Amino acid sequence: MVHNDKFMFPYEGAWSDGREKLLCLDTGSWRVNRPVLDKEKCNYCSLCALYCPPQCLKDMGDHYAPDLDYCKGCGICARECPRGAISMMPEGEFADDSAKR
Ligand code: SF4
Ligand code: SF4
Repeated sequence: MVHNDKFMFPYEGAWSDGREKLLCLDTGSWRVNRPVLDKEKCNYCSLCALYCPPQCLKDMGDHYAPDLDYCKGCGICARECPRGAISMMPEGEFADDSAKR
């Protein structure tokens, strides 16, 4: 199958053997709800990042933050977090946020 290179991600992911580029879509545009972290509750266990389907949670050193270009708002990180540190908030709450996708 031939894909347009514009949509191909050149880096290896957890599911890749690294021999081919990965199909990459702007999944951030799908998002209806956004994951918001309560850093006071987070113990940096990494489970959210492990289960995030597009692997878009970036390691910030003491917590994880979603790359909003790729976070599709699926809520799996919030469901998997053992400390209830992630809440899914409607995108409308961020209407004035320039980072909104
Ligand atoms: S799963 Fe929850 S506690 Fe663990 S790093 Fe992610 S947000 Fe923090
Ligand atoms: S909402 Fe889904 S895509 Fe976004 S960071 Fe959480 S698990 Fe990843």
